[in-house]
Amino acid sequence: MRVIVIGAGVAGLALARGLLHAGHEAEVYEEAPEPRTAGGSVTLWPGSTAILRELRADHAGIGRRLETLESWAPDGRRLLTVDLTAAERRYGHPVVHVARSELVELLADGVPVSYGVPAEHVVPERAEARLSDGRTVRGDVLVGADGRRSVVRRALWGGDPAELSGWVTWQGFTTAPTALTVGRRAVMIADTNGVCGLIPAGEGRLLWWFDVRSAPGRPFWDDDPHVVGRLRERFRGWADPVPAVLETIEEPGFFPHHRQPIPTVWGRGPTTLAGDSAHTMPPAMAQGANQALEDAWLLAHSLGDLRAYERRRSKVVRRPARLAAAEPTNTAQRPAAGLLPDGLVTRLYTVLLRRYSTYLLTVS
Ligand SMILES: Cc1cc2nc3c(=O)[nH]c(=O)nc-3n(C[C@H](O)[C@H](O)[C@H](O)COP(=O)(O)OP(=O)(O)OC[C@H]3O[C@@H](n4cnc5c(N)ncnc54)[C@H](O)[C@@H]3O)c2cc1C
Repeated sequence: MRVIVIGAGVAGLALARGLLHAGHEAEVYEEAPEPRTAGGSVTLWPGSTAILRELRADHAGIGRRLETLESWAPDGRRLLTVDLTAAERRYGHPVVHVARSELVELLADGVPVSYGVPAEHVVPERAEARLSDGRTVRGDVLVGADGRRSVVRRALWGGDPAELSGWVTWQGFTTAPTALTVGRRAVMIADTNGVCGLIPAGEGRLLWWFDVRSAPGRPFWDDDPHVVGRLRERFRGWADPVPAVLETIEEPGFFPHHRQPIPTVWGRGPTTLAGDSAHTMPPAMAQGANQALEDAWLLAHSLGDLRAYERRRSKVVRRPARLAAAEPTNTAQRPAAGLLPDGLVTRLYTVLLRRYSTYLLTVS
């Protein structure tokens, strides 16, 4: 089949790889003039690292394999440790944290993409898109993998269903040496002021992020000229390495959190969606890129029945999306984390990772 893919993010590139391996024709059209490699880094759970293997996108040389996920109090007391190697043993694939840039480059390798040609108008019933250069392209199937502001979704649904969750992320990498940079621990520190996350991303980089409440026109929003000073003030006195990280911040990246309802069926006729275009969610459960890969994997095997693909995926993707929409890592009562035994939480987390993955639910 000939498949038109709009968008060369994680969903579009992974889908194109899967389609090409399955013997289909895939044409990818991307708005940006070159691969969009901006952003921080993403955690890939075992379902996703398994999918990358199937897509012959070898992640062994990039990112950092993670062994634990820890919750700390601001004074550095460890409240909870989730053993991620339990999921690795159970499912046979690791948890890896990779820079978004490296993931995009890995997936783009060998995939023909037309850059600098945004789709401007889409006719879902005909799997047809008009591009900015005046061309009209038509396939047997058209997939909107064009992210949160999807034009394909607009043609299908008629609007943008997403709303701000009230939380934003300020983030970046630091290459200042810290004990966490060379470790295999993801750490989250939280209190009522907000959250600080710290995860090694390989190549001497530590991803840091701060989640705080904000809204347009308020402090900590995108146009706040004093945001670096505000972050230093808000998180002052937190445990090492937070003070050292705060010192290194220069131009932090801004990432507002959006959430949206996810319909059971999200396409029409020969047109469907994959990734954020169908199910934007806050990064609270670290699932955005993972669910994009899950869509791509299933869709590459489901071209004959797009509604069945949507039904199967919506059932699974709603689980992390609903939880993420409530921003649990930002709003949960911190002391509760210290009451739960690590072993129990590890078992629950391992089960949860399977419930969030169509791939693992299918093969393991
Ligand atoms: C530049 C960037 C930085 C990001 N940084 C982070 C981050 O730091 N942390 C995080 O958790 N998530 C981040 N994300 C979101 C994360 O990548 C996605 O949640 C997840 O990977 C799902 O991917 P996706 O392919 O569905 O969407 P996206 O990654 O958003 O990809 C969509 C692609 O479609 C393209 N596109 C949009 N409109 C059109 C059009 N009309 N025609 C053609 N192409 C179009 C976009 O340019 C983009 O390349 C970022 C996304 C982008 C694009």
